[in-house]
Amino acid sequence: MKFETALIHAGQEADRSTGSVNIPVYQTSTYKQDGIGRDRGWEYSRTGNPTRKALEDCIAALEGAKYGLAFASGLAAEATACLSLLKKGDHVVSGDDVYGGTYRLFEKVFRKWGLEVTYADSKDPAAFRKAVRRNTRLIWAETPTNPLLNITDIAALAEIAKKAGALLAVDNTFATPCFQRPIELGADIVVHSSTKYLGGHSDVIGGLVAVADKGVYEEVKFHQNAAGGVPGPWDSWLTLRGIKTLAVRMQAHEANAFAIAEFLSAHPAVSKVFYPGLKTHPGHSLADRQMSGFGGMVSFELKGGRGAAEVFFKKLRIFMLAESLGGVESLACYPSTMTHASIPEKDRLKRGITGGLVRLSAGIESADDLINDLERALKR
Ligand SMILES: *Cc1c(COP(=O)(O)O)cnc(C)c1O
Repeated sequence: MKFETALIHAGQEADRSTGSVNIPVYQTSTYKQDGIGRDRGWEYSRTGNPTRKALEDCIAALEGAKYGLAFASGLAAEATACLSLLKKGDHVVSGDDVYGGTYRLFEKVFRKWGLEVTYADSKDPAAFRKAVRRNTRLIWAETPTNPLLNITDIAALAEIAKKAGALLAVDNTFATPCFQRPIELGADIVVHSSTKYLGGHSDVIGGLVAVADKGVYEEVKFHQNAAGGVPGPWDSWLTLRGIKTLAVRMQAHEANAFAIAEFLSAHPAVSKVFYPGLKTHPGHSLADRQMSGFGGMVSFELKGGRGAAEVFFKKLRIFMLAESLGGVESLACYPSTMTHASIPEKDRLKRGITGGLVRLSAGIESADDLINDLERALKR
């Protein structure tokens, strides 16, 4: 099945009892059993639910993986599917430009349980290799990164992880399986905040995981049931509905992002533009090799820092100032006080998250309207 077909059909056969072409919302917590020890394959909805199962089978197919699992949020997926696999004294090497909530999970939750985390330059596989220790059990990468759109070489990290006897987990939220399939490049676990592009309509929080290996899957599946951070059937259904149009949406997001990146690059009020599709982007050639599209996120730096940013956000009319990304509507975000506020200021600045940095999630509106909106907001 090709990707565009899998979006609509993987895990989603017509309902067996009615022929319903969409998987029903199985809004139930439990299932009648026909006798002691004779269930019909379903026992309790934390353990399994048919609507959630359709979503889990779908993400596995999209990522070219054998196994899929759904969680109540992207962070629940990270905590349950990846970090719960580790134990006290284990070491993680993470890219240094990761989602603020991921950093917070490492530093404020798991570090006090005895997990050790080292951050390596997301752009430099050699830095990851150097950071590996005898007790390294997990390598964590997010690519393209948030918010600077740096590109990490997944195949190179897969080799490093294999040599170290560690698992490689990749946060594929920004690229989606439409543009990047980490398992095919050697990753063991792919994690998504399906709140973003997969759901695609800013109406549901969720997390998805795809796993290559059966042993790892069984462990994650055990934790999913034991810790219980699962999505309800209605949220699973909404996510499935969003996924059906992922391919057409990603093309539209990308086209708009390209147009915006080119417009911003030529604008005198802008000092830097971060978009992997631009030839001037340091990760461009790697992105071109590793991804089949550059995505819909564009970040840029305003000359004039925070003051200029405040004026800019006030003047926007179509772009909404909001957290999150990946929905059909265009959003603008101010990473230093919003998504990345949990990173100490000194570390933030070191990573390039400055007072003038703005992150845009290009929606699928008319590119002309979006560019006019930016032009008006940038006018002095
Ligand atoms: C939003 C996001 C997350 C966290 O997902 P939630 O669904 O908000 O819990 C993780 N990684 C990336 C890259 C994100 O953008």
